[in-house]
Formats: sequence, C-alpha cells, structure tokens
Amino acid sequence: MSDGLKVHANVATPKQTNDIVKKYGFKFKKSLGQNFLIDQNILKNIVHAAELDETKGALEIGPGIGALTQELAQSAGKVTAVEIDNRLIPILRDVLSGVPNVHIEHGDVLKLDLRELLDTQFKGMTGISVVANLPYYVTTPILMKLLEEKLPLEHIVVMIQKEVAQRMAAKPGGKEYGSLSVAVQYYCVPQLVCIVPHTVFIPQPNVDSAVIKLSLRDKPPVDVPDEDHFFRTVQACFAQRRKTIANNLTAYVGKTHRELLGPLLEGCGIDPSRRGETLSLDEFAALSRALLAINLPNQSEAV
Ligand code: SAM
Repeated sequence: MSDGLKVHANVATPKQTNDIVKKYGFKFKKSLGQNFLIDQNILKNIVHAAELDETKGALEIGPGIGALTQELAQSAGKVTAVEIDNRLIPILRDVLSGVPNVHIEHGDVLKLDLRELLDTQFKGMTGISVVANLPYYVTTPILMKLLEEKLPLEHIVVMIQKEVAQRMAAKPGGKEYGSLSVAVQYYCVPQLVCIVPHTVFIPQPNVDSAVIKLSLRDKPPVDVPDEDHFFRTVQACFAQRRKTIANNLTAYVGKTHRELLGPLLEGCGIDPSRRGETLSLDEFAALSRALLAINLPNQSEAV
C-alpha cells in the first residue's frame, strides 16, 4: 500500500482480538478451524517469506478478523481474501475500512473458480502468491486444489499443522515421507520457514503449527508422461507402508501379472524388497513410465 494508510490498530494482539470478538459477540467455530493469530512477529515472518512488493498480488484464504490481511496489505499491491464464514464479513469490512487495496470475497475456497478469481482480481500484477493461516481441517484439500489446478502462483506461504508441514518437506528414507511429500515436491520446492507454538492463537489449538513456503516449479523435476498414472503408482507404493514395493505393486497390477514385477523393478534399478518410503521422485517416475509401457489393465483403477 503506497500511502501507508492504516486506520485500525493491528488486530494481531491479544487485546485487539479480544476487543473485536467482544464488540461483535463473535463465537468461534471449531468446525471452521478458527484460531486467530495474535503475534505480530509471526505475521511479519509469513509476509516476508512471500517476497511481495507493490507489483504483486496476494490471495489470502480464511482472513478471520483480518490480522494477516492488514499485514499483507502493507506489502502487496493487492490482497484478495476469501472467507467462508458470513459472520466475519462485516467485521472484516470494519477492520479493513480505509485500506484501499483489499478485496473481501465471501465463499468456500474449495468451491470457487480460483483461476477466474485470480484473473479478475490480479490483472496486470507481476506475480501472485497465496498467503494464509489455513484452517487445519481442510489443509490438504486446499493445497492440492491450488497445485492440481496449476494456478499461476509464485509461492504458497501457509501456516499449517507442524506434522503436515514436516511431511510435505520430508526427504526419502524417513517415516514422514509419503505420497503427500511426493505430490508437493512434484509441483514445488518446499521450505520450512518456522515452527509456531500453539500459544500465539486465540483460541489455542491442540497442536503446534509451522509456516511452510512452497515455491512453484516452472516444470516438474521428473519426466512423467501421464500425471494421473504417476500419482496412482505413488499411492500404490504407499498403500501399506510396512509392505515392500513388490507386494504393494502386486495388489496394484493384480496377482496374475506378479511375475512381471521383478524384472520391471530391476530394469528401473529398484530392489523389490525396498519400501515406498525409500523411493525418490526420480525412481517413482521411472517406475510409472515402466508400468505404463507394459500397459497392465488394473493400473487404471484407484488403489
Ligand atoms: N487469517 C486469520 C488469522 O490468521 O488470524 C484466521 C485464520 S483461521 C486459522 C482460518 C480461517 O479460515 C477462519 O476465518 C475460517 O472461517 C476460514 N475458513 C475455513 N474454511 C474455509 C473455506 N473452506 N474457505 C474459506 N475460508 C475458510
């Protein structure tokens, strides 16, 4: 925001948040993941990670009473904030009145046509990032929607449950590495920005949180001719984590084709006794290409 206009005091303090909640008689809905941030430093860390400037747009998901929105409006050229809870819309309009570069959109982010929203809201901007303190009950569906729809985003900087952030950034070989790590790392380069204690929210959630920065790749890091098939292969390899790849893949391709798996895995340089959690993205891609090449019937079915 070029003129530095800021009519309302910062929302992200315990006093301001409690005053606003009291003024409007607002009752938190646990079912909507409503935990509002009350720490200005963490907000600054989140916004800093998003690398915004006045030529960039920020899409915020779930602005709550506007704590992060206020901060974003000072760094980005334009902020569009999508909030599902209609009780929060008048509060947001009040808190953000006098802040000219914010648009509040009432809606469910999972149902909105985000490509159209980005097109209409951020015309002429040099880049768009998603910046949010996400509702934890729908973190993965929201992130997968952003990634699978291949929206024109630079970064996704989000506060999420700590364990989910660690799974997204996990490297092969550990128990945190799974199909979510592969999916996220196929589309993005993940970076854990900071761990956030549960004490900086009103009300306090039961879990700790983390801020993760996902920088969207221009193109995937591996050669995958059929993305759906690649992700089905990955799912199949993690279907039962304690089983070997050979066993998990037998369930995937059907017992009658079992004898093909040994040579196929060998051809990819993968020991059949390994577990899915040890495979790199390169190895999953090689496996998917090899399975696709022999075109077994069962692979089209979800496992
Ligand atoms: N950004 C605020 C902050 O940091 O204090 C609030 C974050 S709170 C964790 C999550 C917000 O997401 C709530 O305001 C909630 O109502 C909203 N929300 C939940 N589900 C949503 C959905 N499907 N679409 C849009 N907003 C949603």
